[in-house]
Amino acid sequence: MKRLVPLIFTTLLIFRLSAQDDVLRPVDPADAPNASAVSVPTAPETPAIDPDQFINEEYQIPSYNLYLQDWNTEYIKIKPLGISFGNSADIKIILVDNNNPFTMPCDNYQVSSEYGQRKSGMHTGIDLAAAVGEPVRTCFDGVVRMARDFSSYGKTVVVRHYNGLETVYAHLDSIMVQPNQKVTSGQQIGMVGNSGRSTGAHLHFETRFLYEHFNPAKMVDFTTGEPFSNVLTITKEELDFASVAVESTDPRAAQNPAVTNLPSSGSANNGYHVVKQGDTLYAISKQYKIPLSKLLEMNHLTEDSVLQLGQKIRVR
Ligand SMILES: [Zn+2]
Repeated sequence: MKRLVPLIFTTLLIFRLSAQDDVLRPVDPADAPNASAVSVPTAPETPAIDPDQFINEEYQIPSYNLYLQDWNTEYIKIKPLGISFGNSADIKIILVDNNNPFTMPCDNYQVSSEYGQRKSGMHTGIDLAAAVGEPVRTCFDGVVRMARDFSSYGKTVVVRHYNGLETVYAHLDSIMVQPNQKVTSGQQIGMVGNSGRSTGAHLHFETRFLYEHFNPAKMVDFTTGEPFSNVLTITKEELDFASVAVESTDPRAAQNPAVTNLPSSGSANNGYHVVKQGDTLYAISKQYKIPLSKLLEMNHLTEDSVLQLGQKIRVR
């Protein structure tokens, strides 16, 4: 934690010094915590977690560059990242591979409310009615980005995954993880509850990409409990990118791997390899005759990193 804590602290400090007030506040009203809850993070309910379970270097943050090195432990979403999707059609995300299984967030549930527009506003997730105390599990491997109490969402956990997605688990009865803690698919992170603005025990489950929510039923069949496919395809319209700039002026966005269309070949281009279906880090290291360790270092990746179709990997 030695390096990470100053990093987060510095980031917050810069925000406080330089940002307008509204930058600190969530843009989406549905994400906004009640003012009374803002400064009261949930006390950890499970004491004494092995320090090895926590990340201690920024390169261990999943999809760190994809999120323009944004990592905060306070809110579900602070601001749109302003990444341009230009004219690119669909976004492809590798959901599941041999090393990265999917787990349903809870068992013994009934879908009680679907994702979608309501008269009262947008319902940004799917509600799974289940008994209080039913285990809630993280869907994929990842790192807990946020674990705290909101007056609206109640006790809530956000996990950032190596495939670029974030999943949100709200109205929990109890939270069993802490920010910056590494979790593996299927690991219990809390229990189903009725906390926050909720009218009955259920898990409010959200799927997000670059902080924008999309219908979880696009990803997984809630009648069978299985993902529809190993690769998730979403359109920018489905991502509710209304608040995102169409043409970003942020030069970093132009290099963002998330927005690249599927490449037609896997050859190196300007020192980068564009990830195509079936690529592995090991195969790329062989192809360009770079030791795997060097390749990982150059790209701030770990051996467990999940490649995304279209992702650019530095090879020179
Ligand atoms: Zn809900």
